Amino acid sequence: MCNPETDKTPTTSKKRIFIGLLGLTFALVMLLILVGGWIATIGLEHMHPGVALAAKITASIACIILCSIISALILSILLEKELPFTHKIRGLGIKLFLPLMEILGPRLGVSKEQVRNSFIETNNRLLLSGNRHKIAPERMLLLLPHCLQRADCQRRITTNIDNCEQCGRCNIDTLIKLARSYKIHIAVASGGTLARKIVRDHKPKMIIAVACERDLTSGIHDTFPLPVYGILNQRPEGPCWNTLVETIEVENALKTFLKI
Ligand code: SF4
Repeated sequence: MCNPETDKTPTTSKKRIFIGLLGLTFALVMLLILVGGWIATIGLEHMHPGVALAAKITASIACIILCSIISALILSILLEKELPFTHKIRGLGIKLFLPLMEILGPRLGVSKEQVRNSFIETNNRLLLSGNRHKIAPERMLLLLPHCLQRADCQRRITTNIDNCEQCGRCNIDTLIKLARSYKIHIAVASGGTLARKIVRDHKPKMIIAVACERDLTSGIHDTFPLPVYGILNQRPEGPCWNTLVETIEVENALKTFLKI
C-alpha cells in the first residue's frame, strides 16, 4: 500500500501511471465492445440482416465516441492544457474510466491509492495550467476533513468552524487564520454527505480541498465540472486520526487561484 509520507513518486511518474492505466483500460473496453459486437452480430444476422447492420453502426459510433473522449483526455494531460471543448469530455472520461482504472490498477501491481494519487496530481496540474479566470474570494471554499481536528478536542467545528477556540493544537487554527486573511469560506466536513451539503449551501466557483486519496478522488469525481484542487493530508498516527496538512501548500494554492 502506498503511504503519502513515503510516496515520493515524482509528478511525471504519476502522470505516466495515470496515462498508462487509462490507455490500458481504454484498450480493454474497446476489446470488449468489439468482441461483444462481433458475437452479437453473428446471432443478429440469423434474425435479420438489417438488425445486424444497425448493431454494427451503433457499435462503430460507440467506438468513435470513446476514441474521441480518450484522445482528448490523454492529449490534454500530455500537454497539461485545457484544449477547446475538452472540459466536458474530460469529465465524462473521468467518470467512465476512473472506476475501471481502480479495478484494473491493483491487478497490475499499482495500488488503488497510487491510482488515486496519480489522478489527483493530474487533476491539479490541469487546473494549474488551465486558462481559468481567477476566483473572487467569496466564491472560493476551503473544505477540510474532520480528522484534522485533535481527536480529544470537544469543540463542535463541523456545525460551525467558528466554534474552534484557536488553541493552536491542530492545523485548523492556522487554516482559520488563512481563510480570514484571504476572506474565503472555510468549512469542515465529517463525510461525503456533509461535504455535498456545504457545497450546495456555499455555491463556490472553486474548492480547495484537503483530504486523503479516497475522499479527494470521490470529491473531484462527484463535484465535476466544479474545479477542485486537492491537497493530501498527512497521517502520522494512521488514517482519520489527528491528521496534518502543509498549511503553506494551502496558502500557495490560494495565492495561485484567488483574485487578490
Ligand atoms: S485549534 Fe484547538 S480548539 Fe480548534 S479544533 Fe484544533 S484543537 Fe480544537
